[in-house]
Amino acid sequence: PYDVLVVGGGPAGVSAAIYAARKGIRTGIVAERFGGQLMDTMSIENFISVKFTEGPKLVASFKEHLENYNIDMMNLQRVQRLEKKELIEVTLESGAVLKSKTVIIATGARWRDLGVPGEAEFKNKGVAYCHHCDGPIFKGKDVAVIGGGNSGVEAAIDLAGIANHVTVLEFMPELKADAVLLERLSSLSNVTILKNVQTKEITGTDKVNGITYMERDTETVKHIDLQGLFIQIGLLPNTDWLGDIVERNPIGEIIVDSHGATNLPGLFAAGDCTNSPYKQIIISLGAGAVASLSAFDYLIRN
Ligand code: FAD
Repeated sequence: PYDVLVVGGGPAGVSAAIYAARKGIRTGIVAERFGGQLMDTMSIENFISVKFTEGPKLVASFKEHLENYNIDMMNLQRVQRLEKKELIEVTLESGAVLKSKTVIIATGARWRDLGVPGEAEFKNKGVAYCHHCDGPIFKGKDVAVIGGGNSGVEAAIDLAGIANHVTVLEFMPELKADAVLLERLSSLSNVTILKNVQTKEITGTDKVNGITYMERDTETVKHIDLQGLFIQIGLLPNTDWLGDIVERNPIGEIIVDSHGATNLPGLFAAGDCTNSPYKQIIISLGAGAVASLSAFDYLIRN
């Protein structure tokens, strides 16, 4: 069996695997798609010490670092189930079962898509999801935020300080964010709020040049010119496969303590699949290290 088995090959998983292997213990990492969300990321400007890089390039250097150690790497393998017996057993979609004394879950998350024409086509060409990541690209430009929940309104407040103008589009008749955020949003002079509207299409040529939406009560279709939009209708953790073996919060994130420990002894978690308040590369790398050191601590005590 493994001492540490990591599920997930994004920043959190890679960091956890390297920290474990550096202790000289038996380490494995299994991932459905090595690199995770970074494989879909065009430009990264907040990976401290590297002014600019691209996701796949960063993944290549993660891989190179990982290969420096004695780590069993299993890519293109989806994990289906986890059970606690004498050891923790992880079943792959192929039917294979991996056994380990400790497991670190780092299966990440995915942004919920809007599902309108133009969204896939203009991803990274004006269609963005993470304002902490891509906000500065739209300095002085006109942008929209789709979604008027807490994340959408937070994104709009953040972007209002960077962009020329921000339009918030909410499907429901009212925004669902906290009162304090709504108050702050309505105090900003360069923000327009559109409620009860449905986004129909993201338009553009080589990059985004606008959006078309419908006012739901009158069914009037309108168009706004803009250079970017942020889709903020939810970040879904990849944790459904866990069922109720581990404690998760109402949005499905695995609940971890400050050591990255879950409620199940020997089971740790890190990165975007957890209730960590912010979802970023450097945060996932740090969380992977925390979970791994905690797993090592667990091993020497048990
Ligand atoms: P992920 O990167 O999501 O990796 C999850 C891993 O788990 C993957 O290998 C996946 O295949 C695997 N997995 C999932 N389910 C299973 C399963 N059942 N079995 C086996 N393996 C599984 N952050 C920044 O800091 N700066 C940026 O500029 C930035 N830009 C971004 C741009 C885009 C378009 C996106 C989508 C995200 C961006 N982020 C950025 C966020 C950043 O990518 C994430 O915070 C980070 O990748 C999270 O790392 P993670 O390891 O927790 O999860």
